[in-house]
Amino acid sequence: MAFNMLLKDNLTIRNKKKLTGAGLVLAVVLFSGNIVMAQEKAKPEDTEVWKPVPQKVSPATGNHAPSDAVVLFDGNSLEKWESANGGKAEWTVKDNILTVTPGTGDIRTKQNFTNFQLHVEWRSPAEIRGEGQGRGNSGIFLQGRYEVQVLDSYNNRTYSNGQAGSIYKQAVPLVNPVLPPGEWQTYDIIYTAPRFKEDGSTESKALVTVLLNGVLVQHNFEIQGPTVYIGTPEYEAHGPGPIQLQDHGDLVSFRNIWIREI
Ligand code: MG
Repeated sequence: MAFNMLLKDNLTIRNKKKLTGAGLVLAVVLFSGNIVMAQEKAKPEDTEVWKPVPQKVSPATGNHAPSDAVVLFDGNSLEKWESANGGKAEWTVKDNILTVTPGTGDIRTKQNFTNFQLHVEWRSPAEIRGEGQGRGNSGIFLQGRYEVQVLDSYNNRTYSNGQAGSIYKQAVPLVNPVLPPGEWQTYDIIYTAPRFKEDGSTESKALVTVLLNGVLVQHNFEIQGPTVYIGTPEYEAHGPGPIQLQDHGDLVSFRNIWIREI
């Protein structure tokens, strides 16, 4: 209180422009003295926050998801998945690995999600076939609409906004940390869903951050709309959506897929 009053007095003096040289020096001394006093009164605990207490979570280790994650594929079954064309997911599960069965179509989670952290491990075939977009192509569609590209981008040039780590046809990855075909690679994706107004117009676009093999490739990128092969993307209002994996005709494999809703 005393500090505020003194400060007020000092300001009043200044406003009235009645300060003499000596007065000004006095005011400055008083003013700085007050700041020092105010700082002395503040305690470290004034800025400590004790609640809420963060929930204990065991972290991801090896093939284990964090304890609070929803495991989407643990190596055993496709019970959490269905065909994007309707009906059962027809991809192959063998030796704890999920592999695209070409021609059966995309698969998607039965559960829908909004904002999340998603972990996916993937592997393009060791046997190199095709080139460009035709080599080890798959994809992870966030909310069933926005594709994080999966591609064998190890020595395989294609358009930069279509290589692994890209948001397909929208964002070039910052770098290319892709491993050779046949090796397991990881995606860690942090996603904020778009929001829509009641009239269906876009209130805020989707945001995505992507780490590929632990290396940042997309940093808070503002997704421009649903992934399209030709033309410009345009948002359409939607609610929660699934995680969808692409059947692009290549024998891409997946394992250890988990998600944490934010
Ligand atoms: Mg793809």
